[in-house]
Amino acid sequence: MRKVATDFSKYSSIKIGGIFDVSVLEECAQAYQNHYVIGSCNNILMGQQPPLLLKISKKHDFIKIENEVLKIGAATPSGKIASFCKKNNIANFEFLSHLPGTLGGLVFMNAGLKEYEIFNNLISITTCDGAFLKEEIVYGYRYTDIKSPILEATFALSYGFSKEKLDMFKKMRQNQPKTPSAGSCFKNPKGDFAGRLIEAVGLKGHRVGGMEFSSQHANFLVNVENGTFDEAIYLIQEAQKRVYDTFGIWLECEIAVLDVRYMGENSPLLTPTKSRN
Ligand SMILES: Cc1cc2nc3c(=O)[nH]c(=O)nc-3n(C[C@H](O)[C@H](O)[C@H](O)COP(=O)(O)OP(=O)(O)OC[C@H]3O[C@@H](n4cnc5c(N)ncnc54)[C@H](O)[C@@H]3O)c2cc1C
Repeated sequence: MRKVATDFSKYSSIKIGGIFDVSVLEECAQAYQNHYVIGSCNNILMGQQPPLLLKISKKHDFIKIENEVLKIGAATPSGKIASFCKKNNIANFEFLSHLPGTLGGLVFMNAGLKEYEIFNNLISITTCDGAFLKEEIVYGYRYTDIKSPILEATFALSYGFSKEKLDMFKKMRQNQPKTPSAGSCFKNPKGDFAGRLIEAVGLKGHRVGGMEFSSQHANFLVNVENGTFDEAIYLIQEAQKRVYDTFGIWLECEIAVLDVRYMGENSPLLTPTKSRN
């Protein structure tokens, strides 16, 4: 497979990581199985020991209307989708103007803003394991059970791009820090907010080295100044421990941590241990 050396301190939105090879998936016949698929790394914290990495080739960067449905390639950036929809007066994708990512990452994460989620208008996806209708996929809040690289997806087409919605999403973004981050660090637990819990245990604005839980929005782990993976992991584990000790709630990472020491069933990020000491 063709490989591209990628500097994750530049490529990832949180600006952390070394230079690692990323294989490019052109055809599903390639041996991709033991690789981890990345999109544009807006939701990824890259460690020092990443798994083998894979990205979807640029031939899957497209958006078109075909047989009265919207067909979008997995490598298509959210900004391109939002612009296409605006230009063609298409409804329901306004939220993508303020949500960074590629279509593959957006679908895998069921990304969205409040009740506006990418799955709302999804019809089907095509992956390296074949095509699946939305009804065949298990999905929920920032979760899907998709197990294979997504190549493209189709969406229901309705017309009427909304400037009001665009303004509403812009407003929703105003409380978010502009400092580099990977979006929300933790998923909101049922009936609560990760940001509230982080603040309640005294970690809002707490800084270790160059990393900090933002004083503007506590659930954003921000890279204030040359932050490192170790500092980010320390803060993630500190928040998990303090929130668990105080509230009995284990905060689940929304950020994907790409380091073999923190991945899989035995990841320490998954275990509610009372204390690290
Ligand atoms: C400032 C900021 C604000 C954000 N706000 C929000 C928000 O409001 N709501 C929200 O939902 N998210 C938010 N995010 C997170 C991010 O925008 C989404 O998770 C987005 O879907 C990531 O897309 P990506 O292409 O960058 O995926 P990556 O970050 O590269 O990958 C994310 C996940 O998707 C998987 N993936 C990527 N491509 C594929 C593919 N082709 N096939 C299969 N799996 C794939 C990866 O394996 C990984 O598990 C925010 C991020 C930032 C930086």
